Amino acid sequence: FVDEFRDPAAVKAALAQIESALTQVPASRKPLQIMEVCGGHTHAIFKFALGQLLPDDIEFVHGPGCPVCVLPRGRIDDAITLAEEHGVILCSYGDALRVPGDKGSLQDAKSRGADIRVVYSPLDALALAREYPNKQVAFFALGFETTAPATALTLKQAALDGVENFSVLCHHITIGPPLRAILDDPGIRIDGFIGPGHVSMITGEQVYDFIAEDYAKPLVIAGFEPLDLLQALAMVVKQIAAAEARVENQYRRAVTSVGNRIAQQAMGEVFMPAPESDWRGLGAIPESGLMLSEAFRPYDAEARFGIGRTSVAEPEGCGCARVLRGQLKPHQCPLFGTICKPQMPVGALMVSSEGACAAYYQYRAGV
Ligand code: SF4
Repeated sequence: FVDEFRDPAAVKAALAQIESALTQVPASRKPLQIMEVCGGHTHAIFKFALGQLLPDDIEFVHGPGCPVCVLPRGRIDDAITLAEEHGVILCSYGDALRVPGDKGSLQDAKSRGADIRVVYSPLDALALAREYPNKQVAFFALGFETTAPATALTLKQAALDGVENFSVLCHHITIGPPLRAILDDPGIRIDGFIGPGHVSMITGEQVYDFIAEDYAKPLVIAGFEPLDLLQALAMVVKQIAAAEARVENQYRRAVTSVGNRIAQQAMGEVFMPAPESDWRGLGAIPESGLMLSEAFRPYDAEARFGIGRTSVAEPEGCGCARVLRGQLKPHQCPLFGTICKPQMPVGALMVSSEGACAAYYQYRAGV
């Protein structure tokens, strides 16, 4: 599943398909602005230098599909408050550790003495809660539909086993609403989408139907190898050339049309849509996040410890919001590579392994 998706002859054939389809696209529509929703795709595009293979009539716009990148600064502060002011053992995925908030990063809080631990799974946090029955243990639950099922199953396990010193600081988000927000923004032009591979394994294809039906834009779900991306791009450009708009799936070896029903069922039991969630760069978006359902509300760390949702402004000069909206390329941010580097990030996009700024910095793109 790797070599055949890096085969030079197949790559050349996909490029020829893209070039041929582009000849059918009216000049007035070029260059085409194609949003790759997922940060994993952003990194693959730069890692394999696909931009250098493609014609100038294709421009990639980097989307909001990196969960750490769209995490608002205030939520980092909320997590630090839990650990520093309530004495909670806070468990987090490693990706979020260096994202700065107004109180510094989780790593800074750890160096100040807070008990913050990196876990690979929410089950690790639940195990800690069992190990320290006299301490409160909270899991910082981040991510799209990709990671939400693991949180849901862990909460079901906690409830089944009666683990009462475990809770969740929930910041799970869903992929559809931010894409709608982007499409509703008159300042952002997107001609078609490369849909995320991992999220779609859980959601299936229908979650994107509104993009074709309400906005007449094509979306093609793609895998992460060079040929996956080029084939998906060829499928998008062919649709644009034919004035068509539908959801297609290039990543059939991993994504089914209905997604993962067991994961969806667990999420449906444990979560419900939150009325509104904050997104870095995109602001508040209605029903774009998940909160714990009534049955699981006793595990909500916010309610248990009485903390609210902190809202803080981005630092002076930070271009994260405009990069996340596709209005600025990372290397055009005034802080890129000077004040903001992976070793001392100002914005989350420079921290995360899926962040667009980290990809530009790592692969020296555009500079
Ligand atoms: Fe944000 Fe830093 Fe990227 Fe600028 S260079 S957009 S501050 S992450």
